[in-house]
Amino acid sequence: MRTVETLLGGQWEASGERIDVHDPADLRAPAFRVPALRPEDVTRAYDAAEAGAVLWRRTSPLERSTVLGRAAGLLRERVEEIAADIATENGKTRAEARGEALKAADFLEYYGLLVGRGGYGTLLHDVRPDTRTSAHQEPLGVVLAITPWNDPLITPARKLAPALAAGNAAVLKPATETPVSGLHLARALHDAGLPAGVLNVITGRTAEISEALLGDPRIAAVTFTGGNAVGDRLRERFAVRNIRFQGELGGKNASVVLSDADLPKAARTVAAASFGQAGQRCTATSRVIVQRDVYLEFTKLLLDEVAALRTGPGLDDGTTMGPLSGSRQRDAVLAAVAGAVEQGATVIAGAKGAGEELPEHGCFVRPTVLADVTPAMDIWHDEVFGPVLALRAVDSFDEAVDAVNDSAFGLAAALFTRDLGAAHRFADRAECGQIAVNLTTPGWDVHHPFGGFRDSGSPFKEQGAEALRFYTRVKTVAIHFG
Ligand code: NAD
Repeated sequence: MRTVETLLGGQWEASGERIDVHDPADLRAPAFRVPALRPEDVTRAYDAAEAGAVLWRRTSPLERSTVLGRAAGLLRERVEEIAADIATENGKTRAEARGEALKAADFLEYYGLLVGRGGYGTLLHDVRPDTRTSAHQEPLGVVLAITPWNDPLITPARKLAPALAAGNAAVLKPATETPVSGLHLARALHDAGLPAGVLNVITGRTAEISEALLGDPRIAAVTFTGGNAVGDRLRERFAVRNIRFQGELGGKNASVVLSDADLPKAARTVAAASFGQAGQRCTATSRVIVQRDVYLEFTKLLLDEVAALRTGPGLDDGTTMGPLSGSRQRDAVLAAVAGAVEQGATVIAGAKGAGEELPEHGCFVRPTVLADVTPAMDIWHDEVFGPVLALRAVDSFDEAVDAVNDSAFGLAAALFTRDLGAAHRFADRAECGQIAVNLTTPGWDVHHPFGGFRDSGSPFKEQGAEALRFYTRVKTVAIHFG
């Protein structure tokens, strides 16, 4: 068991009360301990961020870029140590954790390069003589970033890289279950020369620190990734105060397999998209809509892929699917499967009861496939956020598109086909922010704009150059020199 310090005002703090962080593969003893900050510590974090924001906005973009680039290098150097900690606190496999650490480094490097070019404003013509007018993008001030446990390093990096590159200071509140990964990011930025106060990390029990965290008058913008229950409440709360809010929320992502698809490839890709990270990705495929004439053949290929998965502790060699992030998540997933069965679905692979021969002290659920799922069932509509895939047969392309759009969410959708026309029609008609054809629903590069429609998110996209719009505001300046 290791104690991990948190970063406040440029100092590493470990003192005071602690909270335990568990490895979901083995709940018998805590893996880490982090500080349980008090509301007054949160206020100190905002004091530091307020001062940090003034200093950092005056720091040249090239220097900010250099710090982000150095931090990216440190994450890459430390990848094995960081991957082990991600896998320990989150449960994902070592390979998945390694990929996460390297992608977090890419976010830092990418936004450093974007702003390092120096110019992010526009010189405008002015009808008035002897007048020069320009539009500048300037930082907002102090950004609050609240992140979930499922990608505990990438999600903070996806938010902090553009926020800091643009010249803001930040207060990061990582998920209580997985604070250590975000602290690796803070450590890399600190060691790379990020000035004191520009980044502060709040660890602790959410109920105790929530008011101090959300109510501080110095918050200029809030970026949140998490569930709809919390996200919707926060959106309303910040709207009243006219504070900019970005919410990346849930999904119920569908993949469509048409009759002409490369079926082995579709089965392989769908299995990876559904059971990678034990289905705990906002973009995970959780519904598969298959054209009826290939339904049986596709299902057989899919079950072969599922049978080849090895469920076990994320750090064990050979594990291809880790545990769920905690016992609450495991119980919720098993309850969703039981509810689907009660409503008429059939389990054709996976969870029949709790755990089977899997270790009882871990939060394991087998990769689960449900057949005979209909739109009348809750499992068709509700986000499960676990390794559970619902299958449904349809008769036509139009019926498949309607099935994809039969959801309050609109995050990601995929189509498997060899028909280029169908690919374009699908891209036009699917009501989702991310569309993939013959690819998995997860897996977007740092420069690809990312975000959902409808209940999945807000209009502000993350990733790519577009993300900088959320973290900046435009000021128009006219100077008469006649
Ligand atoms: P959650 O909404 O329970 O928690 C998210 C974060 O909010 C955590 O850090 C939590 O501690 C914090 N939080 C909760 N209540 C708070 C309060 N009152 N005050 C301050 N902070 C508070 O979500 P979760 O269970 O951690 O994550 C799973 C959810 O995240 C899923 O619904 C998933 O779809 C979603 N998600 C979405 C995306 C996306 O990009 N669209 C990506 C990943 C995860």
